Amino acid sequence: MTMPELKDIATRPAFDVIVVGGGATGAGVARDCALRGLSTLLLERDDYATGATGRNHGLLHSGARYAVADRANAAECIAENHILHTIANHCLENTEGLFVGLTAEDLEYQSVLVESCRQAGIGASVVTADEALRLEPALNPDLKGAVVVPDATINPFSLTHANLLDARRHGAVTLAGVRVERLVVEADRVTGVKVVEVRSGTTATLHAAVVVNAAGIWGGRLLASAGIVLPMLPAKGAMLVMNGRPCKRVVNRCRPPGNGDILVPDGTVSILGTTSERVDFDQVDDLCVTDAERRLLLAEGQQLVPALASMPIMRAYAGVRPLVADDSDPTGRAVSRGIVCLDHATRDGIDGLVTITGGKLITYRLMAEQATDLVCAKIGLSAPCQTATTPLPGSETPAFIAPRPHTPQRRHGTLAAQMSAIDGDRTIVCECEGVTLGEIRYAINTLGATSLDDLRRRTRIGMGQCQGRQCACRALGLIAQLLNPESAQADIVRFLTERWKGIQASGPDNALLQAQLINDMLDQLGVGHLACQHQQDTP
Ligand SMILES: Cc1cc2nc3c(=O)[nH]c(=O)nc-3n(C[C@H](O)[C@H](O)[C@H](O)COP(=O)(O)OP(=O)(O)OC[C@H]3O[C@@H](n4cnc5c(N)ncnc54)[C@H](O)[C@@H]3O)c2cc1C
Repeated sequence: MTMPELKDIATRPAFDVIVVGGGATGAGVARDCALRGLSTLLLERDDYATGATGRNHGLLHSGARYAVADRANAAECIAENHILHTIANHCLENTEGLFVGLTAEDLEYQSVLVESCRQAGIGASVVTADEALRLEPALNPDLKGAVVVPDATINPFSLTHANLLDARRHGAVTLAGVRVERLVVEADRVTGVKVVEVRSGTTATLHAAVVVNAAGIWGGRLLASAGIVLPMLPAKGAMLVMNGRPCKRVVNRCRPPGNGDILVPDGTVSILGTTSERVDFDQVDDLCVTDAERRLLLAEGQQLVPALASMPIMRAYAGVRPLVADDSDPTGRAVSRGIVCLDHATRDGIDGLVTITGGKLITYRLMAEQATDLVCAKIGLSAPCQTATTPLPGSETPAFIAPRPHTPQRRHGTLAAQMSAIDGDRTIVCECEGVTLGEIRYAINTLGATSLDDLRRRTRIGMGQCQGRQCACRALGLIAQLLNPESAQADIVRFLTERWKGIQASGPDNALLQAQLINDMLDQLGVGHLACQHQQDTP
């Protein structure tokens, strides 16, 4: 299947809706709009899931983290948690979660937490210290007690692509690598967007009855192009990828959310997070994890799970929360994670424009439902939302359970069956993540991957223990064969440079060997020392 390009749609009549942003929220809006029969276009400036969606813990919240401070938000989380277990089961791992108390203050908080969870409809059961250690032997043996909650984990890349795939199946057009330069406003109404295709520099003006701003933290800038002011607070969070899975469950510290208080298992690794720090807008596209953040996360994390002290750090990465708030909170910790859905006709006197932001990954579907309800009201369409009950592609089988963490089934659910149709499709390309030749073909032909980094987000190639050392060249050979041989060398340089940045930021001792090996590879390609100068990373 060939993916459409800007030139293919530039001459089409106006769409019903244009969605700006290809994170989970934008993908969810595109799916919901398409399922309700609206002609839909989604535009993403980079690749899909390159914003906050691809840079978080992947926690499928039970809501317990918010239950004490924001009960409504917690209730939303548990409701969506249940829905995603039905419609997106192939993207989830049903781990459970523990809130672990280490001090007398933690135990005081524990009783407030349990009561708040009860009021928000979140199942929370207290276990003794011995029982907690039996469940998770790697916990700090001095713990005082724990609470078991229905936390789980979610693969944000699989989730986003399943939404995009379903949107396209229902007639939506989705374009990556197309940046919206500004909103087009005529007589107090947004009528479309001015765009540029990043690769070719081609520009166009595209029209729609309604534009949905799902551009995350960048959404404030988009609105400014129509003279609308929305105060947004870019709150950076740093995370470490630990090379191992000391706990089967998500482990949270039993106290109000703070730095280094959560360890989320993810396949065979674990994500240790996170911090919250306001950063300037000009840093949002160039994040780096500092040595101080790495040390802070480790110091806090080790209190919960002492084994983290001797566990290698595979890499470090950071994301920025799309919070709607002014500058009064210096860290963004206290800012609500609630959904912000704005009709700019009532708020700013500009019709044809909806903003959907704030929220969390776990509430992406509800955010999409709220935004699409507003779009339908503006267009005068009464079509019910179906996304709470219609499974995503790959999750059609109830309670689908993939056999092992690193398999195409885990990433694509039932669709993985299509990936071994041709002889040789089962050939392994990436040993760490179990990526097959058939999966690479599928990621290029059906999910629109055009580079090694795109492949990584669709298949996890290069995200395992070798960080691309073994598989990058093989995958590149396939890209050169199936796509574009000319750009192959530049592509591998870009890919390994990104991998290097995250490894370098993970610290001089733990990752030295890996880092050295990757740098040697980059040196052979003539870019090793260039690569060492950066620290930004992708997870
Ligand atoms: C450190 C951290 C940890 C987190 N942990 C969790 C967690 O464990 N569980 C959870 O539920 N939530 C978590 N979150 C929150 C969650 O990641 C976000 O709320 C969610 O991913 C936001 O998705 P989004 O689609 O709204 O925004 P984004 O994913 O940021 O998507 C916005 C997209 O718009 C695109 N874009 C921007 N401007 C333009 C333009 N002009 N033209 C075209 N495209 C444009 C961007 O490239 C981007 O892809 C975490 C967030 C952070 C930062």
